Amino acid sequence: MRVVLLGAPGAGKGTQAETIVQAFGLVHVASGDLFREAAHKGNELGNLVKSYMDRGALVPDEITIRMILERIAAPDCRQGFILDGFPRTLEQARALDAALVERNMAIDKVVYIKVSSEELQARLGGRWICRKCQAPYHVVNLPPRTAGKCDKCGGDLYQRDDDTAATVKKRIEVYFRQTEPLVAYYRKSSMLAEIDGERPIDAVGRDILKAIGRRPTR
Ligand code: AMP
Repeated sequence: MRVVLLGAPGAGKGTQAETIVQAFGLVHVASGDLFREAAHKGNELGNLVKSYMDRGALVPDEITIRMILERIAAPDCRQGFILDGFPRTLEQARALDAALVERNMAIDKVVYIKVSSEELQARLGGRWICRKCQAPYHVVNLPPRTAGKCDKCGGDLYQRDDDTAATVKKRIEVYFRQTEPLVAYYRKSSMLAEIDGERPIDAVGRDILKAIGRRPTR
């Protein structure tokens, strides 16, 4: 099964991807995580990627498409994957479709988690992430049991460099300008499921599993 999670930064894609992973055992492919790994390496590509991320801008399509298509061609993705944060432009969506068609594959479901821009701004400002397993927390909506520590793996929590007020605003703007048009692109096919993301995490998760419409394997 191949699922695309569509939604703005802060819509809850990372949190809900975990729910889907647990239910169906798919591989979670998050473009932002792959870029943060690359940036951490500090090589030429990493520094280039970081210069876009720090500004809240999108990394150029050519780099992004190459990275994701390589990742989903890896053996662990053969049984299925969830794409989180990709595609983010029409060019990326078209490249993904073309690459899958070439391999005789298709996307089974696109899950669009819809959240207003005011709510996104509030969420991203209070977001903390586990350094080890990337699990997201929120000071108000989803606080960890022990301050500064991940409930799942005990890793240290940190705030992302691009979760600062100015960059958050820019990322949300970029989302509505460049990524939201993908909703119309996928709406044309019957694979789009629109989910109200401004509800408790469990309720959103239940609706997503229902929309995927397959019996959980776990
Ligand atoms: P995220 O963790 O998904 O919020 O992504 C963090 C940053 O990585 C974004 O603000 C972009 O700079 C970059 N990025 C992630 N995914 C993409 C993508 N599909 N296309 C372009 N840039 C991306």
